Amino acid sequence: MNPIGELNPTQRILMGPGPSDVHPRVLRAMSAPCIGHLDPEFIGIMNEVQQLLRYVFQTSNKLTIPISATGSAGMEACMVNVLEPGDHVVIGVNGVFGMRMSDIAERCGCDVTKIEVEWGRIIEPEQVQEAVNAKATKLVGVVHAETSTGAHQPLGDISKIARDAGALFMVDTVTSLCGAEVRVDDWDIDLVYSGTQKCMSCPPGLSPISFSDRALETLRGRKSKVQSWYLDMTMVEKYWTDGDRAYHHTAPINMNYAIREALRIVHEEGLESRWARHQKNHEALAAGLSAIGIELSAQEGHRLPMLNAVKIPDGVDDAKVRGALLSEFNIEIGGGLGAGKGKVWRIGLMGESSCSHHVLHLLTALETLLAAEGVSLTKGAGVAAASEIYS
Ligand SMILES: *Cc1c(COP(=O)(O)O)cnc(C)c1O
Repeated sequence: MNPIGELNPTQRILMGPGPSDVHPRVLRAMSAPCIGHLDPEFIGIMNEVQQLLRYVFQTSNKLTIPISATGSAGMEACMVNVLEPGDHVVIGVNGVFGMRMSDIAERCGCDVTKIEVEWGRIIEPEQVQEAVNAKATKLVGVVHAETSTGAHQPLGDISKIARDAGALFMVDTVTSLCGAEVRVDDWDIDLVYSGTQKCMSCPPGLSPISFSDRALETLRGRKSKVQSWYLDMTMVEKYWTDGDRAYHHTAPINMNYAIREALRIVHEEGLESRWARHQKNHEALAAGLSAIGIELSAQEGHRLPMLNAVKIPDGVDDAKVRGALLSEFNIEIGGGLGAGKGKVWRIGLMGESSCSHHVLHLLTALETLLAAEGVSLTKGAGVAAASEIYS
């Protein structure tokens, strides 16, 4: 084998569906010395990470920890711990991540009712009511921020319906956490998971989760063993929260340094200011795009601030434009997933990536590239409209 060159990735501007830009403080924290996973210093760090996670989830749940794997493992952890074969579950499916939830429920041997709505639209409470009326329901699951479509799911009514039906309420906050309001305790969420690489602006690798007391009671009352050894919270919680910290698996030490620093940054900014910043940059981007004839595709009134799905203008070559954004402007945006493939772009304004200079830079780049593709637009109109929002 020939020698392999030194690692030297380009510094990109990450405006896709994740990962988002990572703050240099987080990268520096990751390069701190690796210590043992049972070192008393590391135990202290684990406790601090849990405190910070309770803050961002707005919860006092004891079991609030990062799973040592990406967001999808958090989804799986929430489901395999409370679901048993034959349980009836109701899942809202309005994009890729609702599909993934229902796939996991099926693998758990559950009887799954999928509430399927057109991609880009939200799940309506009446649909959930109808599904839980039909059969006794163990769990209702929805995606708060559907990253594949840009839909922002309201949770209040669905939470109440789940509670009244005696079902656990599970919410995917992978993309919403730290970028839009999430209140686990106030909203009676029983099982919640997130990811590090979206609005937390940390590299991918951990999945924060939180279980309510009701979820823990369900776990303790299981008839069968949890299907997954790695994600079995009866064992994992002993490592994260017990007095004697029994070994379960080796925590990714330096990833925990990273999440600790990323969450410290979130705490310094304050959740409410952070949500407002995401909203402002979304409004500026939407105004700028609209001025050059690009429309958002998610349901009006239910659009995410951190993930802007837009219709690709007619006649424009999807791959060519995204390729040029990357090679000429150093900007990554996302293509469409599933039903949105070739039809939408997904522009992320997540965490560190949610800032005015990224918005203005992307608008300038799009004006240039789309004009070259033959789209009729007034150059400078997008940047002017966005600047208006900022002024
Ligand atoms: C990204 C994402 C996931 C999956 O997270 P991974 O880190 O890719 O495993 C799950 N749900 C939503 C809504 C996401 O955006």
